[in-house]
Amino acid sequence: MTQRSNALPPLAALTTPTLTWNDGAPHATAFDDIYFTRGDGRAETEHVFLGANHLPERFAAWEATRPFLIGETGFGTGLNMLCAWACFEQHAPSSARLHLLSTEKFPLALGALEQALASWPSLATYAQALCAQWPAAVSGIHRLHLTERVTLDLHFGDTTERLEQLDGQVDAWFLDGFAPSKNPDMWQPELFNAMAARSRPGATFATFTCAGIVKRGLKAAGFNWKKVPGYGRKREMLAGSIETPPADQRRQATPWFTPPPAAPAKHVVIVGAGLAGSSVAAALSRRGIKVTVVEREAPGAGGSGNRQGALYVKLAAETNHQSRVYLAGLLYSQRWLAQQHANQSLWQPCGVVQLASSDKEARRQQRFIEQHPLPGEVVTAMENPALTETAAITINASHGLYYPQAGWVRPKALCEHLLSQPGVSMQQGEVSSLTQRENGWQLNLADGSTLEADQVVIASAHLANRFAQTAELPLQSVRGQISELTLPDEVEGPKRVICAGGYVAPALDAVLTFGASFVPNNATTDVTADDHQRNIDELRQTLPALVAELEQAGIELSPENLQGRAAVRAASPDKTPYAGPVPVAEAWRADYSLLSKDATRVAEIPGRHYPGLWISTAHGSRGFASAPLCAEVIASRICDEPMPLEAPLVDHLHPGRRIISGIIRGENA
Ligand code: SAM
Repeated sequence: MTQRSNALPPLAALTTPTLTWNDGAPHATAFDDIYFTRGDGRAETEHVFLGANHLPERFAAWEATRPFLIGETGFGTGLNMLCAWACFEQHAPSSARLHLLSTEKFPLALGALEQALASWPSLATYAQALCAQWPAAVSGIHRLHLTERVTLDLHFGDTTERLEQLDGQVDAWFLDGFAPSKNPDMWQPELFNAMAARSRPGATFATFTCAGIVKRGLKAAGFNWKKVPGYGRKREMLAGSIETPPADQRRQATPWFTPPPAAPAKHVVIVGAGLAGSSVAAALSRRGIKVTVVEREAPGAGGSGNRQGALYVKLAAETNHQSRVYLAGLLYSQRWLAQQHANQSLWQPCGVVQLASSDKEARRQQRFIEQHPLPGEVVTAMENPALTETAAITINASHGLYYPQAGWVRPKALCEHLLSQPGVSMQQGEVSSLTQRENGWQLNLADGSTLEADQVVIASAHLANRFAQTAELPLQSVRGQISELTLPDEVEGPKRVICAGGYVAPALDAVLTFGASFVPNNATTDVTADDHQRNIDELRQTLPALVAELEQAGIELSPENLQGRAAVRAASPDKTPYAGPVPVAEAWRADYSLLSKDATRVAEIPGRHYPGLWISTAHGSRGFASAPLCAEVIASRICDEPMPLEAPLVDHLHPGRRIISGIIRGENA
């Protein structure tokens, strides 16, 4: 029986390092140390990190379906990682995949990164892929899809803190970072212990240093090491491995979230072709898995079927797990959308203005900015007249937040694009039940036909709990209707997405979309005059100047003049999506029943889940910010890859979380 703890380091904006340059090679002023050796830095990397980890041979022999995972301490200029990637391209079979993971507390500014990597013309294409996606200097995990088979997770923040939050197991470590004498804070026992706990059995490491503190720390953590010849004038360096990594202690506190054992899948059936299902389909397609998506209507028939939708988030004033998930999701979606279609026909990163429509909301936004030290490229607080200038339309509210890289999406077209990825096929039909088989699942369709799958992902929004296995998942239906108005030539409409209660998007083909209404516990989809009227009232409040312009142009804003579409969105009671494995609810209630008497009495039994059954739902009206990252969470778990979120945030998305809180509150006893 142990105390539960879920400590997540605070959200932080990171400082970029001050550098001096020596013939193209950067030198960090604060540490008085270099990032790489001028001239032969690449050869040194190949000797120290690639050679001593035997990567050319290991890549050549890599046949596993999961990717080979390299973990690095101190990303710096990325030279080591780009060299590893180049080595992988040279040696690995075409079916192999590579996952790179690196920590960094002081990320280089983009210009400095480009300048440093310009020293290596032979790595130019790799450097370009990295620089094109270089994330904002915000703590957290930033997942970059470098190619179809190479992924990089940048864990921004302190190395030890980041590795303690890592949900993943490394095959080979690059133990880098400035020299122990220049950076003693990093080379502490906690670092080596965290590395050991996140290692696969047999994981190797290599490091340029032979310092005593490193040898002792590695040994105490369970690594064996030996001195091997260093590069050039450096006589020696260390290399070694860990045969039996320690068990993951974190799970003692929350054993219910222990992920099910990894089981490779060849064919996955996804139920539902909205954004949640389509983004899982694309994430699995990228990993070479065959996917069948079963949809009772058509792609984007439900909540993802509007002409336009807003990519936006509403983050809590005081940072909490939910807002950390949404912030990570927003940043991931922005990068992910930019990759889906280079010509931006599926989305426009036009910026989102979130108005404070009352003093109370203005104070909340103020608190939010104080609590979230985020760089201006992510979000910035604004007052009028800057608000009006930015929005390019008169704004009455005095305060607001501006997310310059958010924007609007064409949901239906996006779903269709995701479903057209290699290996993804669509089937029309309604899945009425799921039967567990010895080696997978049988899906029973309403027309009497069946489908077989190794694994199943349920992504059918408010209908996701219609199956016996998911029946207890608390889900609420929320009706939402958008309104559409054809603009006269003389009215342009907003240039950014403007959010207050709802949202107004920039006109698309001269049609203005605004809404959506929000009617909880209502699953109807007829377009109603009432909902149009609510949207009109909201528009009058949000953008009175636009309404005045329309009226001046002779447009009467009344329900009869509007087109629209209504759909049902799904929400969870805590307004966080569900993404992860499906728990066996009655087993959880039996296994963890003691929690109802004393919330610290944690039975050390790993959570029981239906093998190969997953769920992604409850994305509410913010699915563009949550569904793509949730798809990565599920696909990464299915493929035995590191998680794109810190362990406590992965747990926060777990579909079983409400069962545990229910037991603690004495419900369902
Ligand atoms: N691997 C890098 C490359 O290929 O360019 C070179 C790494 S450079 C020698 C050391 C890096 O470790 C720097 O980028 C520095 O900011 C980072 N670093 C130092 N202390 C750190 C810490 N405690 N947590 C995370 N990163 C740290």
